[in-house]
Amino acid sequence: MSVPVLVRTDTGKSKPGTATLIEHDVSKRGPKAAALAIGGLVAGACSAFIPVVHFVATWALPLLGFFLAWRVWSTASELVRIGTTCPGCDKTVELPGGQYGGGRMEEQCPDCMRPLTVERTSKESD
Ligand SMILES: [Zn+2]
Repeated sequence: MSVPVLVRTDTGKSKPGTATLIEHDVSKRGPKAAALAIGGLVAGACSAFIPVVHFVATWALPLLGFFLAWRVWSTASELVRIGTTCPGCDKTVELPGGQYGGGRMEEQCPDCMRPLTVERTSKESD
């Protein structure tokens, strides 16, 4: 879903832009997070039989699994591919975006390296 955003810079200037909003449904996040956590535990248990590797893999793989599971579970929505004109340098840029909690996002212009604040300008009801 494409949503309008407002991009601000530290000088107070702002420019409109558009971004892609990806929403992850809780019914899909749950099983995916569980699969990652269990997968990490199983992979860690299996690595116990591999010489030398087991020193690290037995705890690192379950830890990685839990970390990835937590990431999937906590990412309810993402705001990505933020296309705008940088209010600092007036160049057309695309910001990568990422995990979106609903408020403001901190980004950086890839061209002039200025800090940018990205905010959704309209909120549709789901
Ligand atoms: Zn810029």
